[in-house]
Amino acid sequence: MEWIERAPAKINLTLDVLYKREDGYHELEMIMSSVDLADHLTFTSLEEDTIEVYTNKAFLPVDKRNHVYQAIKLVKDRYHIKAGIKVEIEKKIPVAAGLGGGSTDAAATLRALNHIWQLGLSVEELIELGMKIGTDVPYSIVGGTAFVSGSGEKVRPIRDLPPCWVILAKPRISVSTRTVFRSLDIEKVDYTPKSKEVEAAIESGDYQKMAQHLSNALEAVTFDRYPQLSQLKDRMLRYGLDGATMSGSGPTIIGFSQNYSRVKRVYNSLRGFCEEVYICRIIK
Ligand code: ATP
Repeated sequence: MEWIERAPAKINLTLDVLYKREDGYHELEMIMSSVDLADHLTFTSLEEDTIEVYTNKAFLPVDKRNHVYQAIKLVKDRYHIKAGIKVEIEKKIPVAAGLGGGSTDAAATLRALNHIWQLGLSVEELIELGMKIGTDVPYSIVGGTAFVSGSGEKVRPIRDLPPCWVILAKPRISVSTRTVFRSLDIEKVDYTPKSKEVEAAIESGDYQKMAQHLSNALEAVTFDRYPQLSQLKDRMLRYGLDGATMSGSGPTIIGFSQNYSRVKRVYNSLRGFCEEVYICRIIK
């Protein structure tokens, strides 16, 4: 049996870090949306009890360090599955970019295995499994636009964004989410949470208000390390986008507009000095 899953990238319209918990994790509030930049995963059932992972990016591990491998192992162990599976990952989402590439691949794998091995798992059960792989996996199981809280395990779908285009600009920098969180001292950062305001703007269909309140507490850490990212964000605003912010722990900067010809102009200007630039639509 062959089964194909699309695994869309996510963007953060907000990433509020509320405080550091006793267990070492940070308490977060985030508004996330899925965009039409996606990996494609092809699953093939194998009779032999093995896990085979292949990808078009030679630098990505295909052993137990790959989130897809981890998802398969988790499901096989939990449900005592003796069959095997082969997965071919066609990666389109930039890696270590703040776009949740590994998490969305893991979520796509859980969805696919639920179907292929007819496990009958509910969304809640898939979320519980996903949480064991990574904090962004529960959101990726649900997708669309959502208010995400806790350390990522609480996912509440909200209204779709007003119609708009998003530009994703990723310079040639790779950022480790773990290192950014480790360097963050939230007590010392002057930051006002914005997720509730952005949610209210989305719920009332107020595009301008949504675009003006985009925000990310981790910019303090990542911009400090890579000042060129702060310049990139300023440049996107100067070029006429209505709002811009960093996605996840970076380095991708996202910017919004409702005007396609402006988006094309900004895209062409950014391409001159930014390694990867994408024009995306939000997925419902
Ligand atoms: P997050 O914010 O969730 O860390 P990200 O977009 O910043 O996401 P990823 O693209 O998920 O980062 O990559 C983070 C790390 O995960 C990389 O070091 C990469 O080697 C590893 N990884 C494991 N499996 C995958 C996968 N299927 N796709 C991408 N990266 C993967």
